Amino acid sequence: MADPVLSLTGLEKSFDGHTVFANVDLQVMPGDRIAILGASGSGKSTLLRCINVLETPDGGAIEIGGKPVGDGSRGGPARFSERELCALRQRVGMVFQQFNLFPHMTVAGNVAEGLVTVRGIPAAKARERALAELKRVGLADKADTYPSRLSGGQKQRVAIARALAMDPEILLFDEPTSALDPALVGEVLSVIEHLANEGRTMLLVTHEIGFAYHVATKIVFLAEGGIYETGTPDEVLKHPKRPLTRQFLAEHQ
Ligand code: ADP
Ligand code: MG
Repeated sequence: MADPVLSLTGLEKSFDGHTVFANVDLQVMPGDRIAILGASGSGKSTLLRCINVLETPDGGAIEIGGKPVGDGSRGGPARFSERELCALRQRVGMVFQQFNLFPHMTVAGNVAEGLVTVRGIPAAKARERALAELKRVGLADKADTYPSRLSGGQKQRVAIARALAMDPEILLFDEPTSALDPALVGEVLSVIEHLANEGRTMLLVTHEIGFAYHVATKIVFLAEGGIYETGTPDEVLKHPKRPLTRQFLAEHQ
């Protein structure tokens, strides 16, 4: 069997003595699309941020493609070298709720940035690649526009193109449509659905339950400091077994 794209073992994170989660075990196989659900404050963002070490986990091990990242498998807080973090973030693409585009760069510049600064690809080649990724998200005609001229939906599609440009093995989406006007949600979900149909591996934090049901291969529901309930979309979303899952779903229909 293939190695998991991502494997978390006993992952834990606290802030100021308050445990956000502990004992998180998760295996992500190639082509898995895992929707992470949970109430506000349940640790969804922290979990994604620990995976690409925007937050340093307090314990547990992370493996990407069967190889440990950091030395967390030895127990205790892992240490991560700069070189390792740089490699990790090329393999794990992240899309944020607030887009996080560079305002002083054009759309194409945003998408090409990592290729030039991290990969050392010459500017002309990086631009070519950026244009191809922008085409994929339907924004080739916005290449020389600045982000401030775009709608929220367009900004998020640029952010997705920027993540894709690095050829990541796994994509992390943190509530990619939560900051959008309702009318703009559909265009972003449709790009994500397209990526799902291509067989991309992804973790998706979302409150769009219907979308999660439709595209996810597995649901992870976070509560009480860890994975509270997990299973197929049918199991967790249609036949939830535990009270907090039921309550959450009742509040998000
Ligand atoms: P979610 O994304 O599910 O809404 P978060 O992962 O953002 O939840 O937050 C989980 C908990 O961790 C919350 O109680 C939040 O206040 C806390 N938290 C998140 N980030 C920080 C931080 N940088 N410093 C202190 N507490 C934090
Ligand atoms: Mg969050």
